[in-house]
Amino acid sequence: MNEFSIINLIRKKFGEKCEDILFPIGDDCSVIKPPKGMLQVTTADSLVDGNHFSSKYFTPKEIGRKAMRVNLSDLASMGAEAPFYAWLTLALPPGLKDETIKGMLDGIKADCLKYGVRLAGGNITSSSEFSIHVTMTGWIKPRLALSRKGAKVGDLIFVTGTIGPATLAYRQFMAGGKPDDFLLKRWANPTPRLEAGQLLSQHKIAGSCIDVSDGIFHDLRHITGQSGVGAILEWNRLPFPPKLRALKPDPSMIGFGEDYELLFTVPQRKLRKLSELPCRVTRIGKITPKGFVVLDRDGKEMDVSKTGYNHLA
Ligand SMILES: [Mg+2]
Repeated sequence: MNEFSIINLIRKKFGEKCEDILFPIGDDCSVIKPPKGMLQVTTADSLVDGNHFSSKYFTPKEIGRKAMRVNLSDLASMGAEAPFYAWLTLALPPGLKDETIKGMLDGIKADCLKYGVRLAGGNITSSSEFSIHVTMTGWIKPRLALSRKGAKVGDLIFVTGTIGPATLAYRQFMAGGKPDDFLLKRWANPTPRLEAGQLLSQHKIAGSCIDVSDGIFHDLRHITGQSGVGAILEWNRLPFPPKLRALKPDPSMIGFGEDYELLFTVPQRKLRKLSELPCRVTRIGKITPKGFVVLDRDGKEMDVSKTGYNHLA
């Protein structure tokens, strides 16, 4: 397909009329009517072939869905609500198969329907690498946006869902095997915790929040750093899937991240409200005045300094 046939395909697939998009795909810019009294929340994330995904282990449809979900996860971490709008930039190498492009767009469309996202515009460029770049917006009421800055000494630290399936799937793949279906599915298409994020913000439960994209310790350091506090975590409390729990404790086994769970802090007086969340949440530690300590099963300090995904390493 050339640029124009791809644009035509996108218009056909995503061009349905939407009252809020006053100028949809087809002009230089999109023009959107914001919901009354709401503030805009915006994020952008990229997936690059060979770096964030590989067609060796993800189908084109999974790649499209993943590009949507990493952005939805960012919106979830701030408590943002629908309607969500997305702008899609595709960098396509010459000779990329039509089925790959069609499959990826099918994945994007499936998640637009699932999560209430409207594709409002984008761009296509040629490139030596295949990559997908999504900008996405959602909405939040004034003063409700969750941030990384609000952790206070004595708050408890929680995480949704499970930690580590993506790293384990990657390890299985790199060892030459086929990752377990459950792990591969979690790696390819994580569940953005939109409802949990909205409840944490609207019911003012969380003091701070981030989504776990680069490794749980690495991401918690963003919270402690920006809040000017420390943290103590217990390895034993981390919600691993059984296969990971069975392994000898080793920080590198969760260092890779891509869990797309919410990591958040809760003042102790708000703990009762946690039962309102629609998904599993696990208490993993506590906010302290300073330092960053992870205790192993025997209460000894673990070295976690080398964990976490470094985008420019
Ligand atoms: Mg994030």
